Amino acid sequence: MDSILDLSAVQTAGKVKAGQLRPLEILDAYYGRIEKLEPKIKAYLLLLKDRAYGRAREMEARLKSGRPLGRLAGVAVAVKDNMVLEDYPTTCGSKILEGYVSTYTATALERLENEDALILGKTNLDEFAMGSSTENSAFGPSRNPWDTSRVPGGSSGGSAAAVAARMACAALGSETGGSVRQPASFCGVVGLKPTYGRVSRYGLVAFGSSLDQIGPLARTAEDAALIFDVISGHDPKDSTSLVPSKIQHPSSSTQHLSGIKVGLPKEYFSVEGADPEVFRVTEEAVKVLAAGGAKIEEVSLPHSRFALPTYYIVAPSEASANLARFDGVRYGLRAGGQAGSLLGLYKASRTQGLGHEVQRRILIGTFALSHGYYDAYYGRAQQARALIARDFEEVFKNVDFVVSPTAPTAAFKLGEKTQDPVSMYLSDIFTIPVNLAGIAGASVCCGFSKDNLPLGLQIVGPAGRDEDVLGLAAHWERLTRGQYIQIPQGVKNG
Ligand code: GLN
Repeated sequence: MDSILDLSAVQTAGKVKAGQLRPLEILDAYYGRIEKLEPKIKAYLLLLKDRAYGRAREMEARLKSGRPLGRLAGVAVAVKDNMVLEDYPTTCGSKILEGYVSTYTATALERLENEDALILGKTNLDEFAMGSSTENSAFGPSRNPWDTSRVPGGSSGGSAAAVAARMACAALGSETGGSVRQPASFCGVVGLKPTYGRVSRYGLVAFGSSLDQIGPLARTAEDAALIFDVISGHDPKDSTSLVPSKIQHPSSSTQHLSGIKVGLPKEYFSVEGADPEVFRVTEEAVKVLAAGGAKIEEVSLPHSRFALPTYYIVAPSEASANLARFDGVRYGLRAGGQAGSLLGLYKASRTQGLGHEVQRRILIGTFALSHGYYDAYYGRAQQARALIARDFEEVFKNVDFVVSPTAPTAAFKLGEKTQDPVSMYLSDIFTIPVNLAGIAGASVCCGFSKDNLPLGLQIVGPAGRDEDVLGLAAHWERLTRGQYIQIPQGVKNG
């Protein structure tokens, strides 16, 4: 494989700034790789080749004239297609946005480009980020580079697959309930769900607004930290964006493992339906952390069993409100002719344009918010959410991090769960509490299943401790000498 493709984001930017690597060469290497592998993996919905080459040429001119380049100089990134980029389509993996062209650029993308990252293209996702496998994409599923008969996870499956297959150096995904961490786990890469409010949601198409966050997917924890550092920070265009005084500074404690306290939530380790292999690999990983000096303690998150039902009230409720704007009038697809009346136009456009899972969520959400049911469903779900958040607050009085598997299984086969939404929903059983609590969580590869599929270790920290969470992930990589940072065999040589 081309050695350019082996460089991490940190190494790439270092070499570009030192004049040892040209941005144009980087694009040649990545687009060459994409050309070879995309028919197998289907990670991308749109390639932005002309745009990327234009920017690379401009960067080379800047280098020549001695002007400085940014912190992500020449880093080739992929972005999930639910973030808008001015003058280019955003599909959200849905037919309803057919013909829509973005009129502005998401803050996270603007920040990447301000630091001279090169955006290769937009990646596949479950429609409107609803799903755990990318099978809900209206444009067909992406495939897992470790085994192309399996899903890459979701909803940011295209981004995770692209990073794992070296079809991007790093990527952005988005989370509402696990959509960065679960695909990171399935594809053997690092993923971060930042503390709610640390990354601007401006230009991220809304799903569940009180849960949504953009997060990085990368090969190493160090790369994820660099990208997070670039995209995070207050944004006046997002009223839920945290102001700096609300953010805790990274503690020095993660510089050494000794003295760090790691909690294992006992409720997680007794979840039904999880693969015993997943627990075995996680327990092995915990032993490595303990041998490295971390103190391990059992902790309790007693309300975590309510997380899934709570999420499946809160997220669809917010989605039903957010997706009301896709009405056949304001954006994209419009069911002409047959409509007859305004209501008919709404109905025809939405039934033609939106897939089954999205329709199911709109129905659930509309029902849960309707008069007479609001208190029983949405109101109670909000109360349960508060209890789930309080569990974490209690636990973090005694431990620095909570560690668990990221997902209850390794990547499953395409089609395995499409007929059974509840079993699909269970994929996020360990990740969803983190979104409900608004805190920080990451996934880092910690081993392989007997079928040689990657398994993720989830590291959760208190609100604002995103840097520490990635710090512990970096510790893990050092302790294990990077042995889990791997290229899938099947795609090693294209
Ligand atoms: N799989 C979860 C869902 O379908 C989470 C999705 C997400 O995080 N965007 O809602």
